[in-house]
Amino acid sequence: MSKGNGDGKVYVGNVDVAAKKARKLLLGKLKLGKLVDWGTAFSLWPVHLTTSCCGCEFAAAWSPRYDNEQHGALPWVGSRQTNMILIEGTVTRKMACALRVVWEQMPQPKFAIAMGACALDGGIFYNSYNIVRPWEVVPVDIYIPGCPPRPEAVARAIIELQRKIRREGLASKFVEEGWRPDKEYVKPKEDLCAWWKG
Ligand code: SF4
Repeated sequence: MSKGNGDGKVYVGNVDVAAKKARKLLLGKLKLGKLVDWGTAFSLWPVHLTTSCCGCEFAAAWSPRYDNEQHGALPWVGSRQTNMILIEGTVTRKMACALRVVWEQMPQPKFAIAMGACALDGGIFYNSYNIVRPWEVVPVDIYIPGCPPRPEAVARAIIELQRKIRREGLASKFVEEGWRPDKEYVKPKEDLCAWWKG
């Protein structure tokens, strides 16, 4: 919409629509989207959240011998500065609350890798009363089989996630559209923190 005044024209309109058009121009025609995806793929910072014994292999994966920092993945302490979560094995009902809280604190675009047979489908605790499946708590991008998976498998999962981000443009799609079209928003069916509230 435009309004005329004595000295010329003043353009007013919907700022959200204008911002969306600008984002599309920058990410589409100018190919900045590829830069966003490339930068995100090599800046995967997993948060420290050890849910179970697979955590030992997570630690080994960043030891000098396996050195996952060479892939641009650097474990970080504060969830608000991270963009990846590695679910390390079994997720008990109590840890599911912590997992969800940490996931919601992380800024977008964010990614999840589930590690170990327990994270796939319960593993040796498959029929236990106190286990929840990770995909019921957060949307999982990559699964790593094994009990426990070796550090090389963790490195492979990170490389696969990097390929997925760049191939499917996951980071740039988020910047453009404000959500991840390939992932439905996972909303836990139950109140995971009910035990904590008493
Ligand atoms: S997959 Fe094996 S090592 Fe990992 S949490 Fe389960 S029992 Fe532990």
